[in-house]
Amino acid sequence: MKITFPHMGTSWIAFKTLVEGMGHEVVLPPPPTKRTLDLGTKYAPEFACLPFKVLLGTYLEALEMGADTIISSGGVGPCRAGYYTQLQGRILKEQLGYDVRVITFEPLQGNLFKTYRMIRELVNVSFQKFAACAWLAWQKLLALDALERESHRVRPLEAKKGATSRILSRGIAAIDQADSVKGVKNAAASGLEQFREMPKDHDYEPLRVGVIGEIYVVLEPFVNLDVVETLGHMGVYVDRSIFLTDWAVDNTFLDALRMEGERSIKKAARPYLPELVGGHGQNSIGETVLYAKKGFDGVVQLAPFTCIPEIVAKSIIPEVSKGLNIPVLTLMLDEQTGKAGTATRLEAFVDLLRMRRSKLAMTRGETA
Ligand code: SF4
Repeated sequence: MKITFPHMGTSWIAFKTLVEGMGHEVVLPPPPTKRTLDLGTKYAPEFACLPFKVLLGTYLEALEMGADTIISSGGVGPCRAGYYTQLQGRILKEQLGYDVRVITFEPLQGNLFKTYRMIRELVNVSFQKFAACAWLAWQKLLALDALERESHRVRPLEAKKGATSRILSRGIAAIDQADSVKGVKNAAASGLEQFREMPKDHDYEPLRVGVIGEIYVVLEPFVNLDVVETLGHMGVYVDRSIFLTDWAVDNTFLDALRMEGERSIKKAARPYLPELVGGHGQNSIGETVLYAKKGFDGVVQLAPFTCIPEIVAKSIIPEVSKGLNIPVLTLMLDEQTGKAGTATRLEAFVDLLRMRRSKLAMTRGETA
């Protein structure tokens, strides 16, 4: 099979390792660009959310490159994600005439046996070989998350603008090329060492901002218009609320064991939003509460236009923001949203947070 899958941040590196390890050819689509989004927008229903359009555009680009099978994930709960691969499959096959197989992996809970059957059908190598590859892919995900997390911490301190992003890009490439667990660990260790040695302004105390929202827009820089890097270059420490390895442990393994993942986040959300509203809606509320309690300076919510879970969260966030005294900026993202306009809004928000921090410091000084 010639298998493709969508980009979501750097996760393609691990998925490529996994699919090749299953004994298939990987057709890696190009990273999403304006062309991807234009293609997806052209064939998607008008009110489909942004992830749907970018994914559809990605599949079209991969099909142009010769892919014959698409692997994607499904979803449960009151969000349209559960229907997306069926709808995308129908558009590709019935409307556009592609001969393509779409394989959807649903959340493990309630689908354990089905998932096992699907994996068995896909694996063309011995169980030992597949297990070794799955372990290598997982180690790559862990290493990528470790490097990205550290890049968010050091970017606002960098003495030379762009140094962090350069080290990160080299580290990502080294992890991609590593073909053993030892190689992956060495690549991660070398990246972390370079971050440690990078010249920094240790006296600078960056603003601390949490980035929350729907998983795809939080993880894919093209879709969120590089919000994390932009804020970092403005001297802000960004705590991204979602990393794929944490999400996988919470929503795959704990979910399969019927244990409540993301327990503290959902508990924090309950006074404001006791119900699951699909996607990451409830998480967005819980994370805002937790960032306020941890003393963060502000929160940026990333919400795809027409995404009901994030619209529900957006309608509740003002109450949380006022009650817990934490400023929140919501960025609604669609195919019309531009990078320059977004950067201007972020700049204004960061200015506001700086003024607020100075005022708070003055107030504390006056009352001390
Ligand atoms: S959570 Fe929102 S953006 Fe994500 S698939 Fe559901 S509706 Fe679309």
